[in-house]
Amino acid sequence: MRILITGAAGFLGSHLCDRLLAEGHDVIGMDNFITGSPENLAHLAGNEHFSFIRHDVSNFIFVPKEVDAVLHFASPASPNPTSPFGYVNLPIQTMKAGALGTHNTLGVARKFGARYLLASTSEIYGDPLEHPQKETYWGHVDPIGVRSVYDEAKRFAEALTMAYHRFHGIDTRIVRIFNTYGPRMHLEDGRVVPNFIQQALRGEPLTVYGDGSQTRSFCYVDDLIEGIVRLLYSDEHLPVNLGNPQETSILEFAEVINRIVGNKAGIIFQPKGRLEGDPQRRQPDIQRAKEILGWEPQVELEDGLRETIAYFRYKMGLE
Ligand code: NAD
Ligand code: UDP
Repeated sequence: MRILITGAAGFLGSHLCDRLLAEGHDVIGMDNFITGSPENLAHLAGNEHFSFIRHDVSNFIFVPKEVDAVLHFASPASPNPTSPFGYVNLPIQTMKAGALGTHNTLGVARKFGARYLLASTSEIYGDPLEHPQKETYWGHVDPIGVRSVYDEAKRFAEALTMAYHRFHGIDTRIVRIFNTYGPRMHLEDGRVVPNFIQQALRGEPLTVYGDGSQTRSFCYVDDLIEGIVRLLYSDEHLPVNLGNPQETSILEFAEVINRIVGNKAGIIFQPKGRLEGDPQRRQPDIQRAKEILGWEPQVELEDGLRETIAYFRYKMGLE
């Protein structure tokens, strides 16, 4: 296949490029570098099966050649307002990537009769009242809260994807991604994994927001990419959760990272401040992914963290 991947210079997009090239496909990457980095694609320079277009997906997309698949991953993804990459600080760009970017990429899929895969998110469940979250849960989302620019854009994107499927017969897929981590997360990203690992490597206390009782379930990037590729090759049109169901509190998570790194500086508790709407619990129900894709995560948290820590050590110039 010839595959267009938007958000290709980001964390997940760049891993997807690698994996789909390794599967023998031709890949066209597209990105405007708003939160991604050309460094994530530097190793693909000279690869005749890869090409890159610098473009903002909120504007009409011109693709020079016919494509067989479109994977829409372009969007800021960090909720942290202390990061310049946080979607709270890029609110209009985030809404445009989710709304106009989804419209434009669906338009490309329609033009070429290509299959389409939307990167959605566990955030469409908001601060969930149902636990763990199944795909049938409609969510608990504040439509005007600070996180709404991301949550509502992704909810709109899902609705538009289903409209193109139902009305235009486009061969669409929707993946609801839960917290994923690994090499190529940006140092300034602001999400909990890059923050904690850098603090631990600098010998600083880890900044736990609130009392750390809020939970997340962390999936290693290789597991997630495997699930996405299986979904791309499947015929499933309804949303599928992908994530690791192993739930941990943020306090426990900080302790694990300090232990692996050997950081003696401990933890400091910080007020949540502008992190309003921080979901209290998040854990995917992955029964559908198991049944439809035969997929479940394989990588243990500590193994995935060691790989990620090694990457950050290198990026921080510590070796
Ligand atoms: P990222 O910030 O590393 O990557 C996003 C990429 O999209 C960046 O390279 C950025 O420059 C690009 N981009 C943003 N707006 C763009 C635009 N208008 N035009 C062109 N490019 C644009 O984040 P990520 O973690 O790799 O997330 C990728 C996708 O996966 C996002 O859609 C995100 O919502 C989704 N997702 C990620 C996670 C996760 O845990 N990593 C969880 C749920 C959903
Ligand atoms: N968090 C934290 N310290 C940090 C960054 C994040 O305690 O330095 C917490 C945050 O409050 C949230 C969890 O870690 O409860 C996960 O945050 P992240 O930014 O990774 O993304 P989210 O899962 O909220 O989308």
